[in-house]
Amino acid sequence: MTIDAPQKENTQSHRDAESDELISVRRELYYGGEWHAATDSASTELINPATGRTLGAVAVADSEDVDKAVRAAHRAFLDWKREKPAERARMLKSVAQCMRDHTDELGWIESLDAGIPYHKAREEAAAAAEVIEYFAGLYTEMKGETIPMGEGVLNYSLREPFGVVARINAFNHPVLFAGMKLAPVLMAGNTVIIKPAEQAPLSVLRLAELIEGLLPPGVFNVLTGGVVAGESLVRHNLVQRIGVIGSIKTGQAVLHAAADGIKRVTLELGGKNALIAFADADPEKVAAAAVFGMSLERGCGQACSSNTRLFLHEAIYDATVEAIAERLNKLQVGIPTEDSTQVGCLVSHGQQERVLAYIGSAIEQGATLSAGGQVPDGLEKGAFVEPTLFTNVTPEMTIAQEEIFGPVIAALRWDDQEKMFEAVNGIEFGLAASIWTKDLATAHRAAERVEAGYVWINGTLVHVLGAQFGGQKKSGLGVEECLEELISYTQPKNVHVTYNM
Ligand code: NAD
Repeated sequence: MTIDAPQKENTQSHRDAESDELISVRRELYYGGEWHAATDSASTELINPATGRTLGAVAVADSEDVDKAVRAAHRAFLDWKREKPAERARMLKSVAQCMRDHTDELGWIESLDAGIPYHKAREEAAAAAEVIEYFAGLYTEMKGETIPMGEGVLNYSLREPFGVVARINAFNHPVLFAGMKLAPVLMAGNTVIIKPAEQAPLSVLRLAELIEGLLPPGVFNVLTGGVVAGESLVRHNLVQRIGVIGSIKTGQAVLHAAADGIKRVTLELGGKNALIAFADADPEKVAAAAVFGMSLERGCGQACSSNTRLFLHEAIYDATVEAIAERLNKLQVGIPTEDSTQVGCLVSHGQQERVLAYIGSAIEQGATLSAGGQVPDGLEKGAFVEPTLFTNVTPEMTIAQEEIFGPVIAALRWDDQEKMFEAVNGIEFGLAASIWTKDLATAHRAAERVEAGYVWINGTLVHVLGAQFGGQKKSGLGVEECLEELISYTQPKNVHVTYNM
C-alpha cells in the first residue's frame, strides 16, 4: 500500500547505529497504559530477514493475556467514549505529530525488522500521520439524522462507538498499518487493540513507547503474538468490532469465528491485480508503471495492490516486456539499511521459500523466465529474491492465479478483448486494476468490465485519501481510507421523543 506523504528531516541519533543489537525497544505486551510480561513469560525470537541475525525476543500473547488486555481496553472505553470528539481529534493529532517527529527512528526499526529499504521505510510513519490527521479532521462528520414528525415529536439518530476494537494487521507495513488503523477506530470513540503480524512487530512496539501519555491509559494497546492471540481477540465477548488486513484464509477464519458473536468485521485481503495495456499505450510508460506498481522498492513486491498480472496487447507486448526486464535488471537489491539499496528483502525466510517455490512452478508449467528468478549473489544469508519477470504466461498457470506476495511479475499476451477480460476476471481476487490506453472511452469501458474495487486509469498503486479502498469478490469486505471507514466504527441508535405531553 502506498500513500504519498511529505517528508521532513529530523535529527535523531539512532541512524548511527552500526548493528541490529542497538535497537532499544520494549518487548512486552502494552495494555492499560503499562507494559506486561506475557503469561509464563512466553516469547519468540525475531530475525533480521536481511542478515539472518537475531533482533532479540518479543512477548507472545495467549488467551489469558488477551483477556487482560481487552478488559483494560474496555475500562478505558467507558471514559473515552464520553470524551468530546474535538478533544479526541486533538489527541490523535498529537499522535500524528509524534510519528512525524520520529520517522527516521521508526523507519530504521522497520528496515531491520521488515526488510524495507531505510530511505523508503522512513516515509511510512509520515504516511500514517497523514491518515491520522485526515480522520481527526473528520470528527464533525459522525452525524445522525432527524425525521420530520410534526409538532411536539422528534425522531433523531445518533452514532455510537462499539467498545473495544481488535485491529489485526499483516506484516508488510507494520507501522503504517498501526497508525492508519488506530485512527478511525479511536476517532469514533472506541478503544483499540492492535495485533501486529508476528514477523515484524518492533516498530509498532516502539510506537507504543513513543506515544505513551498522549492518549489516556488503555485507549491504545498492542498485543504481539500469532494466530492464538488473533483468534482469542476475535472470540472475546467484549470485542464487538474487528478489522483485519491479511490473507483470504485468515479472513475466512475470522468471519467464521465472528459469526458466533454476530460481530462486525472489515476485511482487507489479498490481491492478484491486473495491469491491462491496450495497443495504443506507450510501452515505456507501461513498463515504468509495471515496475513501480509492484511496490518493489517499498516492499519487495509484498503489497496487496501490486500489479502482478500484466495483460499486454500483442502490438506492444515485446517492446514492453523488454523494457520491464531492463528496468528490473537495473534495480539494486541489497541490505535494506544501506543507502544504495533500492530493493530490500522479503519479510522472512519462510516467505522467501514460498516465492522461490512459485518461481519453480512457473518454470515447470512452461513460462519463460525473462529477468531475475534467483537469490542474488552475496546475499544468500537473507530472504532475498531478485525482481523477477515471467513472460509467455497463460491464465491457467499457478503464477497467474495465486497471490505470490513477492517480486514476481507475470506477463500475459492478448489480442482478443473478450478473452482478455475473461482471464482478468477469472480469479477469486477482486482488489485493484490498472488500465493503460490513450483512448478514454476504451479506458472507461475497461474500468466497467474489471471486477476490482479500486481502478487506476493510466496510473497504479497509489491510494488517494478519502477514496474508498476495498476489495470485491474474495479480496475483502468493507471499505477503508475514507469517511465510510470512520462511520463503520460507529453503530446507529434511533431516539423517538414525544414532548408535547
Ligand atoms: P496472514 O493472513 O497470514 O496474517 C495477517 C494477520 O492475521 C497476522 O497478524 C496474523 O497473526 C493474524 N491471523 C492469522 N490467522 C488468524 C486467525 N485465524 N484469527 C485471527 N488472526 C489471525 O497475512 P500476512 O501473511 O501477514 O500478510 C499477507 C496477506 O495480507 C496477503 O494476502 C496480502 O494481500 C494481505 N494484505 C492485504 C491488504 C489490503 O489492504 N487488502 C494490505 C496488506 C496485505
